[in-house]
Amino acid sequence: MERTIELSREHAQQEDRKDKLNKYRDEFYLQPGITYLDGNSLGLMSKRAEKNVEELMDSWKRYGIRGWTQGKYPWFFLPEKLGEMCAPLVGASKEEVIVSGSTTSNIHQVVSTFYKPVGKRTKILADELTFPSDIYALQSQILLQDLDPAEHLIRVKSQDGRVIEEDDIIAAMTDEVALIFLPTVLYRSGQLLDIQRLTAEAHARGILIGFDACHSIGAVPHSFSEWDVDFAVWCNYKYLNGGPGSVAGLYVHKKHFGTRPGLAGWYSSKKDKQFDMSHTLDVECSAGAFQIGTSHVLSLAPIIGSLEMFAEASIENIREKSLHITRYMMDLINQELAGLGFTIGNPKEDERRSGHICLEHKEAIRICKALIDNGIIPDNRPPNIIRLAPVAFYTSYVEVWDTIQTLKKIIEEKQYEQYSKERNVVS
Ligand SMILES: *Cc1c(COP(=O)(O)O)cnc(C)c1O
Repeated sequence: MERTIELSREHAQQEDRKDKLNKYRDEFYLQPGITYLDGNSLGLMSKRAEKNVEELMDSWKRYGIRGWTQGKYPWFFLPEKLGEMCAPLVGASKEEVIVSGSTTSNIHQVVSTFYKPVGKRTKILADELTFPSDIYALQSQILLQDLDPAEHLIRVKSQDGRVIEEDDIIAAMTDEVALIFLPTVLYRSGQLLDIQRLTAEAHARGILIGFDACHSIGAVPHSFSEWDVDFAVWCNYKYLNGGPGSVAGLYVHKKHFGTRPGLAGWYSSKKDKQFDMSHTLDVECSAGAFQIGTSHVLSLAPIIGSLEMFAEASIENIREKSLHITRYMMDLINQELAGLGFTIGNPKEDERRSGHICLEHKEAIRICKALIDNGIIPDNRPPNIIRLAPVAFYTSYVEVWDTIQTLKKIIEEKQYEQYSKERNVVS
């Protein structure tokens, strides 16, 4: 697996010249002197996103209430329009995707819709390494059914604290499981699960299965509909560059259309019936049914330009660069940082890894602080993880080269010793 590559900044420059996506760097607000490697937590602002926010502000200014149906982007249809633009990124038809809610509220929506404990089948299957919000939401949904999460939420164990083996997940798919909810990518190690295989195995046992795609959307292609995934949710502010708190995404397989949403609201209605103001809900026959109330229009705006760029560049090209530049980073880590206490914590195989590198070091917290003072923005997942995401749209090979040289210097010169071991409030 370990390769020897040419070690020079000139080589990195050559890679940048070959990079078909390099031109997109100009589309983003890259700050002088700053290398941004935290696009897996919050993607950078693009000029198109900024323009779209201004346009929607302007439509409010100009049209007032009429903005719902007039202007360049009539607000009433924007969640569906963005769902259509997002569909190629998740591998679904346009009706199967809607941009609405937040990741966590969408988890509540899909789980309250599809978790129907009956008879022996009362449990939800998740994993012990997933993101806390997902677990809290699942626990709430179990409690709302008057069941005890300690008994009814199964969390598949990791053998090494980094990855969850698909075989272990499949072994836990018993006839007591009503629903499975897993991340596509584990947020710490960056492991990409075999979504297709897990879905087939779940369905072979009569279990519904859904995914949280926060860490794969915009970095990895998906084929949710073809793989028969029942439902999925994701946020649009990580690799999707939709901005802080931007509206999230939700996918529901078309075979479930017509199912009454667990959390209904007037936006769950057929669009042409919504303003009939009837007290009998006529459920929309698309993922749109899983909306609840009025869309957060100003937080939809930046996603327009972002998705346009994905359509132009194509998720396949993005994945290709992402795999190449993360491989380059791993090669540099192996060659340049050997013997300095670092371990690569993400899986090495292309089909098992996503867009970020999980670099482990016992001094991770202090190293991250030193990186920031050197103009490099990583993120830190205590106790020992430095996440580094070279984002296909805006990270250059030279930046990766310089980052690894800086890491080397931070350790060799013991720069990290100047910092405290306390984690920051937001890390
Ligand atoms: C980022 C992330 C979230 C965040 O949820 P919000 O509702 O947007 O705050 C949830 N789950 C996972 C797996 C994430 O990566």
